[in-house]
Amino acid sequence: MTRRSSRAFGLTFAAIFVAASAGVQVQTPDQSNHVVVISLDGFKASALADPALPLPTLRRLAKEGATARTMRPVNPTVTWPNHTAIVTGVTPAKHGVVYNGLLVRDPGVPPRIEPWLDKKDMVRVPTLYDVAYGKGMTTAQVDWVAIWNAPTVTWEFRERPDPKGAIAQEMIQAGLVTQQDVDGFTSSNIVYRDSVWTQAAAHIIRKHKPNLMMFHLLALDSTQHRYGPGTLAAQAEMALLDAQVAEIVRAVNDAGIADRTTFFIVSDHGFRTVKRQINPNVALAAAGLVQVTDGKAAKADAWVVPEGGSAIAFVTTPDPDGKTLARMKQALTGLEGVDRQQPVLDREETGVDAACRADLGVDVLDVIAGGLR
Ligand SMILES: [Zn+2]
Repeated sequence: MTRRSSRAFGLTFAAIFVAASAGVQVQTPDQSNHVVVISLDGFKASALADPALPLPTLRRLAKEGATARTMRPVNPTVTWPNHTAIVTGVTPAKHGVVYNGLLVRDPGVPPRIEPWLDKKDMVRVPTLYDVAYGKGMTTAQVDWVAIWNAPTVTWEFRERPDPKGAIAQEMIQAGLVTQQDVDGFTSSNIVYRDSVWTQAAAHIIRKHKPNLMMFHLLALDSTQHRYGPGTLAAQAEMALLDAQVAEIVRAVNDAGIADRTTFFIVSDHGFRTVKRQINPNVALAAAGLVQVTDGKAAKADAWVVPEGGSAIAFVTTPDPDGKTLARMKQALTGLEGVDRQQPVLDREETGVDAACRADLGVDVLDVIAGGLR
């Protein structure tokens, strides 16, 4: 938060994290400065250069500021690990968020991913908003991730907002939404939710002028999951995102803080078109390592948890002689679509141990599915 009076458009967070995470002394912050972080989920860097995409606001911000041609996502390259890297400056090995939630392991059943756990139980290092708050600055988040019940957020409208929360009630009073809108918010479609999140972020900026705002727009991710990247649906959603960024810029102008605000427009990952999916758990079931009852995996001695183009395979029961691990490896060897499998020798890079809430003392195997051969 040292760049004053400049608008930056970045696809990387390097500058800001020099201070936040590398142990560099943070100077006494100027509390009249503001940073707005806008994350466009699933927005690939090359889209900016595509003349077929109408992105006037993003291009204007880019022209007026600084840009990075691309960013390097962390591994695993999914939403929460990358967003947490953005606000911590470190990889999942250190921040501990390997999934879109925390992996909860119980013996003999498939592990599950639990997103709605407190930030303090999920993120293992200080975040940008922790540092800013600790320096007496005000912080805000709208639809940010791995941030549940974070005590260092001054104002928020969550991914799952509290219908009775302060910001929701302010927005109702201001006529921006109704109580009914907020009550039914979580079950509304993602395009609607992005729209309300945009109103919430704009409202917080206009009314409260936080020093740091972290704002996450999700609909492009959902659109590309459903219709694929490069489709008309994805292009339309990108155009809508541009208008939503424009709404936030307008709010900053209305708040009278434009000359003291730095924007960081970031993304967490891109998308790649796939034609087929593989489910390695079918192979584990065929090998007798998973028992299926009524179409569901009732019991599992081993289980593969997918993460986009990669997956991590777990032995889920105590395995002192390594027999289950050997059977799991065999079941996955030569499986169509599995490019390679490897032990988690890079445990430190993936942080996979940190992601396991209950360490059963069992082995873990990485399965990297690099596309169909
Ligand atoms: Zn994402």
